[in-house]
Amino acid sequence: MTKLVNHWIDGTRTGAVAAPGGGADIFNPATGEVAGQVVLATVEEVDAAVAAAARAFPAWRDMSLTKRTQILFRFRELLDRHRDDVAALISAEHGKVHSDALGEVARGLEVVEFACGIPHLLKGGFSENVSTRVDSYSIRQPLGVVAGIAPFNFPAMVPMWMFPIAIACGNTFVLKPSERDPSASLLIAELWQRAGLPDGVFNVVQGDKVAVDRLLAHPEVKAVSFVGSTPIARYVYETGTAHGKRVQALGGAKNHMLVLPDADLDLVADSAVSAGFGSAGERCMAISVVLAVDPVGDELVEKIVSRVRKLVIGPGDDPTSEMGPLVTAAHRDKVASYLEIGVQEGAKIVVDGRETPVTGGRGSGFWIGPTVLDHVPPGSRVHREEIFGPVLSIVRVRSYEEGMELINSGEYGNGTAIFTNDGGAARRFQNEVEVGMIGINVPIPVPMAYYSFGGWKDSLFGDTHVHGTEGVHFYTRGKVVTSRWLDPSHGGINLGFPTNA
Ligand code: NAD
Repeated sequence: MTKLVNHWIDGTRTGAVAAPGGGADIFNPATGEVAGQVVLATVEEVDAAVAAAARAFPAWRDMSLTKRTQILFRFRELLDRHRDDVAALISAEHGKVHSDALGEVARGLEVVEFACGIPHLLKGGFSENVSTRVDSYSIRQPLGVVAGIAPFNFPAMVPMWMFPIAIACGNTFVLKPSERDPSASLLIAELWQRAGLPDGVFNVVQGDKVAVDRLLAHPEVKAVSFVGSTPIARYVYETGTAHGKRVQALGGAKNHMLVLPDADLDLVADSAVSAGFGSAGERCMAISVVLAVDPVGDELVEKIVSRVRKLVIGPGDDPTSEMGPLVTAAHRDKVASYLEIGVQEGAKIVVDGRETPVTGGRGSGFWIGPTVLDHVPPGSRVHREEIFGPVLSIVRVRSYEEGMELINSGEYGNGTAIFTNDGGAARRFQNEVEVGMIGINVPIPVPMAYYSFGGWKDSLFGDTHVHGTEGVHFYTRGKVVTSRWLDPSHGGINLGFPTNA
């Protein structure tokens, strides 16, 4: 019998595939076989999850910070103990290798650890005597029911960018995972329950557009965090805000690495291969374009190619594999189509992932190996469009300025990196580049949990980035209290605007 992945509503697993179209297949990407079914929520099921979260909100909001924090610490301990189990679920449905899945759990755990410090993060300000015997202070309060909608590529880490902070701030949460790899979310829900989180504070609805649209329209949902592709991020932002919600919607990416002639080319080659092919390029912070400033191109391509040829491609649960398959057959085919497009546009395929051997055989898994395209024309589709697979494009440029122009003229602004030993050039780069997350000799500059993660331009719609203090800001709203405890000098009636004159 194949597994059934259903919802987690009010502390209980619930839901079945009741009607044709009410479920979707989950695949093992390494074999191409159907591994199970995920229930796709109806409007009524989403409403049930939101209702459970709304019921749980008043008591959770009013629970003392000490007790909330104790639950967060227990959740942190349980998640730490079950890292391997969460990673195994991710690897089985997403296809990424186990060590990579463990890495995403570790980065998610860091956000939980940050959220454990919530009593400090929610401290307001206090000013005594803003007027005679009048004091002012600021507080931040939770919003109510908030929702998170996640992409397939980080089924544990991306939701953990959202819910640890939202819940720590006193909100209740409804998570809509990707329908491609939904299982990790259910294990996480069980761990929350074992940590003592009251039922209804954390809920999971599995589903597709039906579930997303209902969350965006539901009057009880006060805020939505979304991570996914740019067209859907834009749609979620526009629809959610039209319904009066606070929305942060993170979109796609096309991340460039600018290599100056003075860079250490071995470090560059190691970094480009790690950042280009880790997780088979299915990372929003993957490097997909290397801008090689003359004259380093030929030497750098040689170094990259010699490393790529040694990569071991195989199933995620084989400890010798360094890179797994792609998530679905359709996605693999789309990625492969870019090799044809690249050739038509004048690029040269120097490593062809369609010919890469796979340990354990190819089967009908969703395989494509690491691919390197050289002499990719600036501005071509392969250069500009998000491929989201193991395809590294090398674009030759004559100068720093030409490279900077190519980065800044792109529609995305998620991550970027410069490789150089020139501190002045690096400083100029960080100042001029129109991108949210910058690496200096660091290929995947994902901010730590106590900073905030987010891109610019079409990589993020909304005002606040996720996690860190911006996350706390997103999931709370401010109040300022001005108070006077009456004494005989209170002053009587005054129709003028309050000033402290
Ligand atoms: P996606 O946009 O297809 O799906 C994301 C979520 O939206 C899923 O939960 C999905 O069920 C839902 N969805 C899909 N189509 C929808 C529709 N028409 N209406 C409403 N909801 C819909 O993204 P994906 O393929 O799961 O993930 C890959 C994308 O996510 C890439 O573009 C990648 O760059 C991006 N991503 C961005 C970041 C970031 O931080 N900026 C991080 C991870 C992934």
